[in-house]
Amino acid sequence: MSRLILVLGDQLSDSVAALREADKSRDVVVMAEVAEEGSYVPHHPKKIALILAAMRRFAARLRDEGWTVDYSELDDTENSQSIVAELLRRAEQRGASEVIATRPGEYRLIAALEDCPLTVTLLEDDRFIASHKEFEDWAEGRKALRMEYFYRDMRRKTGLMMEGDQPAGDKWNYDHDNRKPAPDDVDFGGPMQFTPDETVEAVLDLVERRFGNHFGELRPFWFATDQEQARRALSHFVKHALPKFGDFQDAMLAENRFLYHAVVGLYINIGLLNPLEVCQAVEQAWKDGDAPINAAEGFIRQIIGWREYVRGIYFLHGPDYPRRNALNHQRKLPEFYWGGETRMRCISKAVEQTEAEAYAHHIQRLMVTGNFALLAGLDPAEVSEWYLAVYADAFEWVEAPNVVGMSLFADGGVIASKPYVSSGAYINRMSDYCKGCHYKVSVKTGEGACPFNLLYWHFLDRHRDRFSNNARMGNMYRTWDRMDEDRRETVLKEAEAFLERMSAGELV
Ligand SMILES: Cc1cc2nc3c(=O)[nH]c(=O)nc-3n(C[C@H](O)[C@H](O)[C@H](O)COP(=O)(O)OP(=O)(O)OC[C@H]3O[C@@H](n4cnc5c(N)ncnc54)[C@H](O)[C@@H]3O)c2cc1C
Ligand code: SF4
Repeated sequence: MSRLILVLGDQLSDSVAALREADKSRDVVVMAEVAEEGSYVPHHPKKIALILAAMRRFAARLRDEGWTVDYSELDDTENSQSIVAELLRRAEQRGASEVIATRPGEYRLIAALEDCPLTVTLLEDDRFIASHKEFEDWAEGRKALRMEYFYRDMRRKTGLMMEGDQPAGDKWNYDHDNRKPAPDDVDFGGPMQFTPDETVEAVLDLVERRFGNHFGELRPFWFATDQEQARRALSHFVKHALPKFGDFQDAMLAENRFLYHAVVGLYINIGLLNPLEVCQAVEQAWKDGDAPINAAEGFIRQIIGWREYVRGIYFLHGPDYPRRNALNHQRKLPEFYWGGETRMRCISKAVEQTEAEAYAHHIQRLMVTGNFALLAGLDPAEVSEWYLAVYADAFEWVEAPNVVGMSLFADGGVIASKPYVSSGAYINRMSDYCKGCHYKVSVKTGEGACPFNLLYWHFLDRHRDRFSNNARMGNMYRTWDRMDEDRRETVLKEAEAFLERMSAGELV
């Protein structure tokens, strides 16, 4: 009897566990575009289009290679619009009772498959450097789970940029070289763009019809949608942008959306690129003398360090992790996250590019939209839903630890040893947003004061009990305590007034 081999929209790799386990001569691959996945949060239309187009391409390739594929398009009249219901329908059609699946990257879907009345075998998703067991072993007995130590183990395990058992250049981490402010000129034209072919155009029409009301611009659509294109996009990055990736990794420019970033996370996360192949390409460029060590190490750390680490945290901490709210922040997400007007130029520019591209780079996510959400005390569940919806690379296993943990400190400090908060000064140093902003970054209180300046102290003050003893935050509290009392009162009053106006929907 044939078995059903489930391949989800973020499992589009030849080497995915369920396909490796399958027998091409008798098993049936099941792939389904279902409304449930497209709308449980209002995903950006570009993200939905990426996944559907890449699924269709992948299914076509599997068929060319001799697989039998039962593929449900979103508009098929028979489509029951949920993964489990589609499995049941295909099982009945094929007389199958057994399903082989690769474990999804989200507890919601894992639970749905575990509850499915068919016999479902979930195989570990081994398209990662570390297995769940390895991460658990590493975490066992440690008081603090700091990424840096985990990363060193991953360097040793992969041998990437290693000389024997020592790191290349005798240093594990070149981060201090990677904090240059925004350059005046960026000599990289951005990620490689692809013209939609017939398959992609059909998907774009479908997404426009079905999800056109979601936040985000669908066209122009330029993402890679198969492995071959994604590899070309990677080579383009390695050749033209990697050499300066490290230097300007943290910089932000209002009119340049990508700087020297790779824009490959979206391809890795759905399986079009393998994380190790990406790192090996970068390592090779360094070995060939085409990229400096700070760029190559910095990039590889993002993938075998951060990416693996956040996945480990998500699965170690269980299904409740994404809903944590350690700081008890309850304020509603303001409309300007969904494109409403704001006078804060940094936020308005970060949201504008998110709406256009389903993309913002790490520092825009962390130090602009994330920083503001934390300072203003926005509800982490709403913030997390926003991040999950708006970025093309957002899947819960990677989004939740980055948002709930790294950015909002809502996990109580599992990931970050202190909250990533800053006043306007950081944004001003690393970007050109403040030039031309309605607010003045140098103004601390009164007319035109930058809201980040006010909210920064408001945050520290309202969470004094929790953070004043944190060794890494002592200086911040000492500076606050040294201000005279009238000044402190003014700051807090103005911050409160700002938050009230924001929550009342006034233009801020
Ligand atoms: C609040 C917040 C939310 C985020 N949400 C997501 C998300 O939903 N999905 C996602 O893949 N990344 C997320 N990140 C991490 C990071 O911002 C993106 O991976 C990166 O911006 C993707 O763009 P890029 O491919 O140009 O990456 P580059 O800046 O060129 O970095 C290279 C690669 O490193 C990996 N990487 C870098 N940082 C991280 C990280 N912190 N966690 C995991 N992988 C990382 C990605 O695979 C990325 O493609 C988030 C970060 C923050 C602060
Ligand atoms: S002045 Fe403040 S609000 Fe305006 S761009 Fe700078 S940091 Fe953002």
